Amino acid sequence: MFKHLKPVSGDPLLALIIAHKQDTNPKKIDLGVGVYKDDNGNTPILNTVKKAEAILLEQEDSKSYLGIYGATEFEAIIKDLILGEGNPLIASGRIRSTQTPGGTGALKVAADFISANLKDARLWVSDPTWGNHKSIFDSAGVEVKDYPYYDPETNGLRFDDMMAKLEAEVKEGDVLLLHACCHNPTGIDLQLDHWKVLTDFVNKRGLLPLVDAAYQGFGDGLDEDLAGLRHMAANVQDMLIANSFSKNFGIYRERCGGLSVIAASADEANAAFSIIGQAIRANYSMPPAHGAAVVYTIMSNPELKAEWELEVAAMRDRINGLREKLVAKLAASGVSKDFSFIKDQRGMFSYSGLTLEQVRTLRSEYSIYIADTGRMSVAGVSDSNIDYLCESIAKVVG
Ligand code: PLP
Repeated sequence: MFKHLKPVSGDPLLALIIAHKQDTNPKKIDLGVGVYKDDNGNTPILNTVKKAEAILLEQEDSKSYLGIYGATEFEAIIKDLILGEGNPLIASGRIRSTQTPGGTGALKVAADFISANLKDARLWVSDPTWGNHKSIFDSAGVEVKDYPYYDPETNGLRFDDMMAKLEAEVKEGDVLLLHACCHNPTGIDLQLDHWKVLTDFVNKRGLLPLVDAAYQGFGDGLDEDLAGLRHMAANVQDMLIANSFSKNFGIYRERCGGLSVIAASADEANAAFSIIGQAIRANYSMPPAHGAAVVYTIMSNPELKAEWELEVAAMRDRINGLREKLVAKLAASGVSKDFSFIKDQRGMFSYSGLTLEQVRTLRSEYSIYIADTGRMSVAGVSDSNIDYLCESIAKVVG
């Protein structure tokens, strides 16, 4: 049966992780993997998560099925976090939210929902975008198209080009995927004014925005990071939002995220939500419970919630502090290229502007592991490796 099958090449980032693991150079640095790391290179469990797990160990009294949407009380947590408590959309009933297995699960359910119900809709993604966006929508049978986003000349955003291509090529009913904040892989975000332009455009051209919020809290703040998303949500009729709790609660392997649908009326939102429920049932029946139970335990306890906000702020401040240090140390190392754009980027990642050749030399001669695209995971930088990193980049870039 399987004789004809040829192995497919795996994710190049996973190959990078393996190569780093096998490297015996004590100075090796892993800037490939997309998880938060502390100054010791560890991905720690948050204190609030440990505390919530202790509470759950004591209080949880059943492992019975929960239902396709997960824990019912979790719906309010998702809405409060992404829209902000007291957002009038919540009371209007025009938004419904379900727990999903991570942000990836949310995107997969959204893809199935779009494929089955919004016939002929195409999905527009930024060039570049997170690699899995294309895979998820391709596999659901949704045609994926891209719009210009990153400008290698300026290491900035090509907003005019983005709008020009969208203006020329979108069709009514197409889906526009936007990263809420901390764009993966570039670190270059849309600003509020861009969101305003895009909101008008979505309304004018009859598009469905799908906003992927995987890094809330990692840019400028839990509320600040979603200001654009919230502006759009307040001013469009329909919208989908896929969010992830993997990064901001550090519960990557627990697989916890959310999918929200906003519609013209509460009735329409409920109808769409019931169809989303069908897609969930056919995919994985129901989401895993533990991650959501942890998030719920933290968010429903004012003391734990306040402590968690500080923990998110600490992760954010560390990354933003590293950006400042990188820029200063690269400049001090006498490198010919201006890297000051790194401090304007946000989130876990930075498109460094390093060429493929430079990335390969850094890997082979200095044991510094950066993705072929030049994407660096900033959280992999630490006080103990930053000098070696900057000196090596200066030697390779010249
Ligand atoms: N969306 C983007 C842009 C991401 O970078 C990621 C994870 O890397 C996800 C979604 C999915 O996250 P999760 O691990 O919760 O599935």
